[in-house]
Amino acid sequence: MAKKIQAIRGMNDTLPEQTPVWQKLESLIRQTVSSYGYSEIRMPIVESTHLFKRSIGEVTDIVEKEMYTFEDRNGDSLTLRPEGTASCVRAGNEHGLLYNQERRLWYTGPMFRHERPQKGRYRQFHQVGIEAFGIATPDIDAEVILLSARLWKALGIEQHVELQLNSLGSNEERNVYKAKLIEFLQVREDKLDEDSKRRMLTNPLRVLDSKNEAVQAILEDAPKLSDYFGDETAAHFAKVQAYLDAAGVKYVINERIVRGLDYYNRTVFEWVTSSLGSQGTVCAGGRYDGLVEQLGGKATPGVGFAMGLERIILMLETLELNDDVKGDVDIYSILVGEGTDIAGFKAAELIRDQLPHLKMMHHCGAGNFKKQIKRADKSGAKVALIIGESELEGGCVTIKDLQGNVEQQTVAIDSLVKVLPTYFA
Ligand code: ATP
Ligand code: MG
Repeated sequence: MAKKIQAIRGMNDTLPEQTPVWQKLESLIRQTVSSYGYSEIRMPIVESTHLFKRSIGEVTDIVEKEMYTFEDRNGDSLTLRPEGTASCVRAGNEHGLLYNQERRLWYTGPMFRHERPQKGRYRQFHQVGIEAFGIATPDIDAEVILLSARLWKALGIEQHVELQLNSLGSNEERNVYKAKLIEFLQVREDKLDEDSKRRMLTNPLRVLDSKNEAVQAILEDAPKLSDYFGDETAAHFAKVQAYLDAAGVKYVINERIVRGLDYYNRTVFEWVTSSLGSQGTVCAGGRYDGLVEQLGGKATPGVGFAMGLERIILMLETLELNDDVKGDVDIYSILVGEGTDIAGFKAAELIRDQLPHLKMMHHCGAGNFKKQIKRADKSGAKVALIIGESELEGGCVTIKDLQGNVEQQTVAIDSLVKVLPTYFA
């Protein structure tokens, strides 16, 4: 036998048993983003490598070690997108969608990062992102957060996620602070790990979100970015909180949230759960007022988030909230006896014509009654439509409730359209 070819490590198939819960999540997301007036944008999966280096930043985990970068046949350096914001801004600039306009955009699709695969961390994973452009006021920061909060409610997981909020200030404020932080860290350099030592000079804020507990202990006495906020930054941050308070969205301020990408300023946030172990962030985002200009467009403020769909699906599974998700079949036909195959074929088409919202699976391949009823059960169908020789003669169909206790009944084919929906009310 030829050797089986396997999927790439960290890149998963989503099997038919799993797709219903994905579809449910995707449809709730669509509904939620539409209810805030966001329009969908679709970008390519491959972009020029420069795009990510320039936006995400050279000294970030993503650019330093996680990107799938390759040369194409022309010798151009291309990268499988590790996230969507950069592509969205690139597309917005390219098509003149951003300057002097307000745009609320959303997208979904696979992202690629060469990380060590583990629960909740994959090399191909899926994000939904939203990006709001052209609005500098704090109401939009809050709206972006409210949209995500509404989704948690719709999914029934609002009790299991916590909103952590921070402000990164302006570039100027951050630069003053960075110098102070470097001073503080340099004095304690011998106590830092290698990663933090390196970052101390290249990207000192990233030391703040080190996962090393020894480093975290040192940081207890570190200067705080919030002490360097000017009036505007402080007012903006206070207003974001006022909007969240008004909407009844709870949050905690976490000054250690700096985000792994360089383009953020002012508001940043993460939704964190304790039900997924160390892969606890299910959604993260913030404001990025400099990014559009940094990527060659005219200065345009932006704010958005990205959520990891695998982690949300894992949460739904862990909390056993995926149980009520319906399968792919509502009705399964069973045909026993001469000529019933043609009658069944026609009945199935009639149902698809008249009741297109029901999922009708027609039995193919003949076989005895027992075999067909087994198939019907296995399909997950709620009812079986049985056509035997007596039904054929009378122009009727027998309806058998496979999951409930409605008494079996035989009805005229013509009245199927009326009777069937009562099983799915
Ligand atoms: P982490 O700290 O977990 O590595 P991150 O800060 O790199 O996350 P972002 O770049 O902010 O993540 O991406 C937004 C969201 O996308 C994350 O909160 C997470 O839900 C999801 N995500 C990121 N990387 C992965 C991955 N490798 N596998 C699955 N989901 C991911
Ligand atoms: Mg990461």
